[in-house]
Amino acid sequence: MYMKTLAQKYNLHARARFRHEVKQLEWLEESMKWEVNVLDSKTNQRHSLRYDFVFCGTGEYHLPNSPDIFSSFKGSMMHSAEWNPEFQLEGKTVAVVGSGASAIQIIPSIAQQVGKLLSYQRTPAWVISRLQFNIAPWMQWAFATIPGIRRLYRTSIYLANEIQYPAFQIQGLLSHVARPIAILLVCLSNEYYPALMRDNVEVIRDDIIQVTQDSIVTKDRRDKIDVLILATGFRIHEYFGPMEIVGRKGENILRKWKVDGPSIYLGIVSHLMPNLFFIHGPGVDLGHNTGLFTIECQVNWILQMVNEMEGQGASAVSVKESVEQAYMLRHQRDMKNTVWSSNDCGSYYANSQGLITIVYPRSQIDYWLRTLKFNPDNFEFLIRR
Ligand SMILES: Cc1cc2nc3c(=O)[nH]c(=O)nc-3n(C[C@H](O)[C@H](O)[C@H](O)COP(=O)(O)OP(=O)(O)OC[C@H]3O[C@@H](n4cnc5c(N)ncnc54)[C@H](O)[C@@H]3O)c2cc1C
Repeated sequence: MYMKTLAQKYNLHARARFRHEVKQLEWLEESMKWEVNVLDSKTNQRHSLRYDFVFCGTGEYHLPNSPDIFSSFKGSMMHSAEWNPEFQLEGKTVAVVGSGASAIQIIPSIAQQVGKLLSYQRTPAWVISRLQFNIAPWMQWAFATIPGIRRLYRTSIYLANEIQYPAFQIQGLLSHVARPIAILLVCLSNEYYPALMRDNVEVIRDDIIQVTQDSIVTKDRRDKIDVLILATGFRIHEYFGPMEIVGRKGENILRKWKVDGPSIYLGIVSHLMPNLFFIHGPGVDLGHNTGLFTIECQVNWILQMVNEMEGQGASAVSVKESVEQAYMLRHQRDMKNTVWSSNDCGSYYANSQGLITIVYPRSQIDYWLRTLKFNPDNFEFLIRR
């Protein structure tokens, strides 16, 4: 609702180019601009545009992870991130594979309409109930009339989430609670368990050992299904892929990051990519609070940086390599103190080298304080010759 209101307020829909996929960003050293190569999927034409600044908000959870084993299925199949509303689910036998944040939303939404729902669950999610109640008339009155009360209410919700942060520290008293949560992320739902209790819903805990063109096979059973829904997560370590970014000195950033892990200051900027700002990029995800506030912190910080750059008459701004390296060292050091780094946790967030590159190791208030004020000393301001 909040995001929809903002999009309306700033008329963002009129400015958006829908069905345009950015294929490549290339930093042009001489003109200090980014060349953006775009595919218009309506016309299938590619074209290039040049920009002074690029904000990259491509998300972390957008590349579907569809395990190969399912490719032999020949019926209707979709990943949760590629939902096809045309699929007929009424009366059908539907399998939902996965039991994370996507599955716990999908299962209650479709359980009523399908004939039979088979929920294939490898690791059960940690589900807690959502604080959801009708706003009583006296509260509505208070929200409408007493100045500051809505802000106070929202702040109390925020702080109730934020105080859960110590649970994610290994030495924290609450870490034994957070460890399982960090493996899968905690899921909030009041509808998931009631959906699982329905007569037409069955939970299957055995590993899937084979998928044929119309069935899923486990050690004890073979189920013929009409529709297969994969709630099997995302390829989070491909960062902004499959888009390519060619930064300073012709460096192919994604290829480099896939090998070395991302190197990024505050999860926003990298010395290899002047004037390119990541929004909710690598290293800022949280297990306990909202990503929206992180995004707002980042945007405020970036605007200060751009103002400073303009004030200095520069054409581009780039974080100093030494500052970025020191930040990344501290990020990895702090990460060692979190439950994500413990042996039984973190597999989802760890890259091929075992580095946890997705989450922020400290509290969100810490991130807010770090991004409150832009420090020009940490940056190079580049002047176009
Ligand atoms: C099931 C699920 C539950 C979640 N629950 C929460 C939660 O409770 N709280 C929370 O804070 N976060 C939650 N998240 C994380 C959530 O994804 C982020 O907080 C939020 O969506 C981040 O917004 P974003 O704009 O950065 O990315 P996204 O919402 O992922 O948006 C990225 C956009 O960029 C587009 N894009 C990507 N590549 C290109 C390209 N090359 N060219 C053009 N466009 C491109 C994508 O199509 C997409 O529209 C959840 C995620 C999932 C999957």
